[in-house]
Parts: sequence; C-alpha cells; structure tokens
Amino acid sequence: MGIIVQKFGGTSVADSEKILSAARKAVAAQEQGNQVVMVVSAMGKNTDMLVDLAQQINTRPPAREMDMLLSTGEQVSVALMAMAIHSLGAQAVSLTGAQIGIRTDSSHTRARIQSIPTDRMRQLLDENKIVIAAGFQGIDENFNITTLGRGGSDLTAVALAAVLKADACEIYTDVDGVYTTDPRILPDARKVSQISYDEMLELASLGAGVLHSRSVEFAKRYGVTIHVRHSFSEAPGSLVVAESESPTQAVGGAAVTKNESLVSIKDIPDQPGTSLTIFEKIANENITVDMIVQNIGLDGKANISFTVLDDDLAVTQDAVRKALDHLGSGQLECRQDVSKVSVVGLGMAQQTGVADHMFRTLAAAGVNIQMITTSEIKISVLVERERAEESLRLVHDAFSLQTAPPDAQTKDIGGSTESDIAEVASDLVGMEGLRVDDVLLDESQGRITISQIPDRPGVAAHVFENIAAENIFVDMIVQSDGSDGQASLSFTVPRNQLDAAFRVAESLLKDMDGAIATSSLEVAKLSIAGIGMRSHTGVAIRSFQSLAGEGINVEMVNTSEVRINLVIDGNAAEQGLQALSSAFADVLQKKATESNTP
Ligand code: ADP
Ligand code: ASP
Ligand code: MG
Repeated sequence: MGIIVQKFGGTSVADSEKILSAARKAVAAQEQGNQVVMVVSAMGKNTDMLVDLAQQINTRPPAREMDMLLSTGEQVSVALMAMAIHSLGAQAVSLTGAQIGIRTDSSHTRARIQSIPTDRMRQLLDENKIVIAAGFQGIDENFNITTLGRGGSDLTAVALAAVLKADACEIYTDVDGVYTTDPRILPDARKVSQISYDEMLELASLGAGVLHSRSVEFAKRYGVTIHVRHSFSEAPGSLVVAESESPTQAVGGAAVTKNESLVSIKDIPDQPGTSLTIFEKIANENITVDMIVQNIGLDGKANISFTVLDDDLAVTQDAVRKALDHLGSGQLECRQDVSKVSVVGLGMAQQTGVADHMFRTLAAAGVNIQMITTSEIKISVLVERERAEESLRLVHDAFSLQTAPPDAQTKDIGGSTESDIAEVASDLVGMEGLRVDDVLLDESQGRITISQIPDRPGVAAHVFENIAAENIFVDMIVQSDGSDGQASLSFTVPRNQLDAAFRVAESLLKDMDGAIATSSLEVAKLSIAGIGMRSHTGVAIRSFQSLAGEGINVEMVNTSEVRINLVIDGNAAEQGLQALSSAFADVLQKKATESNTP
C-alpha cells in the first residue's frame, strides 16, 4: 500500500459538482489500496475575490491580515471536500496548514516552508481516513497564519509528498499536462510526456503558470516526481522528473511573460559597487529582477537595464531613484510596452546554432529584439508587447515544438520520492532555504563586445549566424536595450576561438553603421550553482557585494533558477573566486556536510 498525494486547483473545485468529482478520484485511489492525501485550493476565483475585497477596504492591507483573510479560501474547500468524501461513504478529515503543523518563516504572503511534521497525517491515514490538507498555507513560530505566495497549493502538495515519501504526487488541473507552451495562447502546443526539473523551473518562472516554480524547486531538491494531469480525465498527463523528454532536443519549451517592464538607468559611474547600490535597494523591496544587462562603459559611464513585472514597477522606480540620489548621477527611463519571450532546453548547452535560429526567426518577421540574455538552458529576448504572442508562435514553430522528438522518452511512474527525507527534517535553514552546491571559476573563455550597434531587426541574427558558420561555440550572450542607439552586444566564446570570433565581428562592422568591436582574453566567468538562485533575491546581491568589496567590476551577468554567472576581469579571477566562496561559505559548508551524510 502506498501514499498518494492528489492536489486539486481552483478551477477543479469551483462548484459542488466538481468537488464531488474530485472526491470520487480520491475515494477510487483509496479503494485501490492507497492511503490518500488531498491538497485543495480555494474554489474558483475565490482568492482573487478576497484580494479584491481587501483592496476595497485598504489599498495597502497589513500582510499578516492578508494571510488571515486569504487562508479562509482553502479552509472552505477542505471542509466541503471532507463532506463530499463522507457523502461517498468514505472517511475523511480536513486539516488547515496550522493543524498539520506546516511551519514557515514569518514573511507574510510569500512565506517559505521550514518543516512539516507527519505524525498527525500518518495517524489519520492509518485509521483509513483520507487526509484533506488546505493548500497554500502554514503557520509561523508565533502561531500567525502565513501563505506561501499565489499559486502556492502546488508547493503544499509537493512538500507533503516529500515528507510523507509518497508514491505519487498528482497535480490535477484544467489542462491535461505540461505543454511546450501555454495551450491557451497557442492551441498548437504539444503535451509533453515528461519534462526535467530544470526546464520546468525555468518555464514556470518565465510565465508557464501550470506549476508554481517553488513547487518545482522543492521537487528537484527532494526528488519528487510530479504528475500533472486533468481533473476530469483518467488519461496520463506529464511527468516532471530529473531527465528531459528528449536527450537530443535543443529546445523543449517556450514561454512568454507579457507584463514585463523595462527599466534603464543611464550614465552611472562605471565602478564596482554601482550595481550593488541599485540592486540592494530593489531587493529590499523583495522584487525579483530579470534580464540584467550592464553595458561596458566606453566613456567611464555605464548603463544598466533590467526587467521587472509591471506590478512591481512603481516600487522599483522609487527604489532606483533612492539609489541614484545616493550615487549622485544617472537617469532613469522605464517602458511598459515590452514582453519577454523565452525558449528553454537542457540540450541547448551542448549545441551551436540555437540562439541564431531564434534571432533569425524573429528578424525574418521584422520583430526587433530589444534585449537579449541567455543562460546555459534558456534564451530570453525582449520584444514589443504587441508582437509578443506572435513572437512566441514564431519561435515555437521554428523549433518544431508541436512535433514530438523522435527519441521522446517517458519515465515509469514508480515511487515518487528518491531522496532521504530524514535529512530534510534536520536541515537547519529550513526545507526551502537557499542551497548553494558550487562556486565555480571558468577561465577558458574570452569576451567579444560590439558597441553602438544599430537598433533594428536582424542585427543579432546576422552576428550569430556568421559566428555559427565558423563553428564557434557561444556561451553567454547579452544585448542591452538599444532605444537610444547605444546598444551593445557582448558574448563569450572559448579562448582558442576568440581571434576567429573577433575577425567575424570586425568583418560585420561595415553593415552596422558606426559600431565598434573589442575583444578581451582577460575575462573570467564565476558561477554560483544551486537551488533557489533567483527566488532568493539576496543571492545576486550577496555576489555583487562580495565582488564590490574586493574592488572587482562585474562586466556581464546572467541569472537562471539554478545558476548565477558573472563575467569579471580575468586578472581578478582567483580573488573573485575567493570572495564568492567566502560570501557563500555558510550555505556551501552545509552542502559539504550534506554530501558526507550516507
Ligand atoms: P490550478 O488552478 O489548477 O492551479 P492554474 O491556472 O494555476 O491551475 O494552471 C493551469 C493553467 O496553466 C492552464 O490553464 C494553462 O493555461 C496555464 N499554462 C501556462 N503555461 C502552460 C504550459 N506550458 N503547459 C500547460 N499549461 C500552461
Ligand atoms: N488559492 C491560492 C491562489 O489562488 C493558492 C492556489 O490556488 O494555489 O493563489
Ligand atoms: Mg496553479
């Protein structure tokens, strides 16, 4: 007999009929000999309604009271679900997060899980009862009710599956699995049989709302297999596991974040600590930034651009203004007519020709790419918002995502948790604490920068097609916002291909009115790898802080869910590595002891 966790999202419990239908699934699973834990979200749009109600009364409601209010949505659902189970002749007990004892930190409205006792749930399961857990909520050390962030019931489900060592963690929702992109935006999208944690993590944080990104982080950390499936069907859905669907495919999925705002800060001093001052002020507001691009200053001045969600723009602007006051120079410009389109795939780290294919596809349709950032497994571009969905479709088509790769594989749905959960309980920083696995130094690359590139469609495509034609492997790419004609494009290539890459860059300058190419052998790439790199907003800050403290300037940055990469002056390579290693010593050390645990 195994334990099954079944989570039902809002639309899956939107009315009494749907609640009964979900209850029937749980009872059927129990009749097949399983112990069943259900995790239930608030009915339909109940949480949105509660948010709205709060706004009518107070536009800045105290976060503690917001949690008190929002947690009621799930409390309604669990009680009704328990009644539904009883009406079907089975036994059930509903429990709030507090009653289970889901302990979180005190950051209201976005609390992180620290520990979950299993005694009470196990006892009820052993009494043949179906346990119905309220999703999205917990309790802090002072018995305050907390919530885990919007969409957080997925996280509750994965966390319960982890601590109970469940045999399956089924996420029932209103689509029948994970698609290559949001099927509501692109009906052509294809359901994947399985997707890797890392790809799902990136997609979730880049706009694929089917799973909460922290639930995927949790699943990766504790080896929980997630099975995403349709609430009103018996068909198998998609598995989220360690391996991707196809070992050879470069791109596995695409996503769009429509409501992205571009923040550009011009004419700030090009010296260590500048980015720190700015990002510290933003992180203090708990805002996650993406697509950070810092232009290498030709005139002793630097420009920094990055994106934030529209909803965070006003607070970000205030924070940046404070930072600029402190720096004594710089101008702030913001745009809200942009969206981020991204492709994700574990396979792209090993292949050339992925970025240029994406850029050419957009260029051929006359879509101007306003910014570019890449990481090992994703490429994001910023485009005009009006053309965002069209760009998503073009890119999805270009990588033939609607067609299953010939070597598509599906893992067996076996036992769902793979790691030793005993270790989890003793984890001092809490179950969702930051985990840094490695701080790495890569001195094998050089950097090419083309400054003052024209702001028109096709420039990036032109550059990277010519680079790919020489079989040069490009690692990091960043292109800054070009609206004022000052855009620059930087990328890194293996040192032994730097000369060849520079010759290509120079040969293209004639087509790029007034652009200038420079190259540097003397760069070093530092990386911090782990889990929660982006969701813990402090990681980037800590990196900037430690490098600035040593007087080291960061020339290029990129961030993903699992890694932060920083390109610095090659002469400071060792010094930078030391600085980062000591900045993360506390979390790194924990990993060292963890890996010694048998
Ligand atoms: P629930 O209330 O069950 O948690 P959500 O609305 O949070 O459901 O998530 C399901 C929705 O996620 C789907 O209706 C779909 O539109 C959206 N979605 C976005 N990206 C994807 C994707 N790549 N695959 C599947 N669904 C996606
Ligand atoms: N009810 C919460 C929300 O709407 C949690 C969830 O549905 O996952 O955000
Ligand atoms: Mg959801």
